[in-house]
Amino acid sequence: MHVLIVEDTAEVVDIIDVSLKMRWPDCEVSSVARGSMVTGILAANKPDLVILDLGLPDMDGLELLADMRRVSTVPVIILTARGHEAARVRGLETGADDYIVKPFSASELLARVRAVLRRAESSARMQNAGQMLSGNLTVDFETSTARVNRDLIPLSRLEWDVLSFMAHHPDRVMVHTELKEKAWGSSLVDDSVVKMCIRRIRGKIKDVGGDPAVIVTYRGAGYSFQP
Ligand code: CA
Repeated sequence: MHVLIVEDTAEVVDIIDVSLKMRWPDCEVSSVARGSMVTGILAANKPDLVILDLGLPDMDGLELLADMRRVSTVPVIILTARGHEAARVRGLETGADDYIVKPFSASELLARVRAVLRRAESSARMQNAGQMLSGNLTVDFETSTARVNRDLIPLSRLEWDVLSFMAHHPDRVMVHTELKEKAWGSSLVDDSVVKMCIRRIRGKIKDVGGDPAVIVTYRGAGYSFQP
């Protein structure tokens, strides 16, 4: 496993490095302090996970995350001192898989990393399961992409996971807790985060000419993909 830490504070890098190696002794950890170098490293080294500090010396971490999402679906955990809700929500909206608020404990870090990696693995396993169609929408598990006719829907990793989990069990209501466990790796995620994610996916489907009603809401219960 290769983890890339994007962080300009050496002590924080050390804490993460030591924590990860405590749990995964073979874990390869590299770090970079400047955001401008990250997209190049992603292309060259293909890390399995990125831990991203939002306060970088040369650029805003959220801008960097948006840049990263244009070229990569690598799982990203945001590290932020900005504990307030708005920054966390913006992070998730921009395509982060999870976030950790500084100061954090090693056990919290490891729990979040485990959950994100577990989700990435099960998402990878589903890639062999072919395609799911609904009207002009194709969910392609092989390439981890969703299209309307031939137009790619620009989904973040998290949005792809949510849509593909639902598409994998068509016609079945995915209850909130199940979706949270599967997509976020934790049932502790707030309902509003799930709701917001579903809204974004529907919006993106609509933007490329698809029917957002492919995802049906069952009020108080969950969501379902209509094949
Ligand atoms: Ca910093």
